[in-house]
Amino acid sequence: MRLILLGPPGAGKGTQAEFIIEKYGIPHISTGDIFRKNIKEGTALGTRAKSFMDKGELVPDSLVVEIVEDRLKEADCKEGFLLDGFPRTEVQALELDKVLEKMGVDLNAVINIKVNPEILVSRAIGRRICRTCGATYHVVNNPPKSEGVCDKCGGELYQRSDDVEETVKNRINVYVNETSPLIHYYEKRGKLVDIEGEQDIDVVSEDIVNALRG
Ligand code: ADP
Ligand code: ADP
Ligand code: ZN
Repeated sequence: MRLILLGPPGAGKGTQAEFIIEKYGIPHISTGDIFRKNIKEGTALGTRAKSFMDKGELVPDSLVVEIVEDRLKEADCKEGFLLDGFPRTEVQALELDKVLEKMGVDLNAVINIKVNPEILVSRAIGRRICRTCGATYHVVNNPPKSEGVCDKCGGELYQRSDDVEETVKNRINVYVNETSPLIHYYEKRGKLVDIEGEQDIDVVSEDIVNALRG
């Protein structure tokens, strides 16, 4: 399975990614996670990316494409992968097409998770993430059994610094202007699968599996 998860910030991409990678046994490639890891480790890439992420802007295409290209060359991507949060611009999509062509592989589907903008802000603001395993929770919609503690690994939950109202609103605008044209891009190529994202988490997961069965 070679898949892309598309959708605005807070749509549920990361949440569904946890399910999809388990179900299909493929690696999860989240460009946001890669940047956050680099920020935590204090790398040069992390320092450059942080200035854009803090404002809710996109990191320049030139920085992103190379990272993804390198990651896709790793052995665990041979049988498939799940791209989450990439591509986010038409330039990135075109570059990805070139990389896949070089690799001699094609995408199975682009999963487009649809959620209305009013709901996205509260989803992102209530999001909490495990520092240890990366699992995603929501303080109201999907709370952990014990506050602040990961159900899966006992790790500490934290809030992303860009999950504050103003930055989230900017990220949604950036999505509308720069990323949403990719819906049409993949529709034209016959890859798009629309998923109704305003349902319970497990119903969304079921819809994804059914859609991929075709
Ligand atoms: P994305 O990766 O698209 O930004 P996440 O998967 O991190 O989105 O989800 C954003 C927030 O919304 C998280 O707090 C998550 O627990 C919650 N969430 C995800 N899917 C749903 C859903 N179907 N219904 C309600 N809340 C959800
Ligand atoms: P979300 O899905 O909640 O918007 P991500 O973790 O995917 O969050 O992305 C967080 C931030 O990382 C983005 O706001 C952007 O600054 C940066 N980023 C992640 N992926 C990309 C990408 N493909 N292109 C440019 N910037 C990216
Ligand atoms: Zn955890």
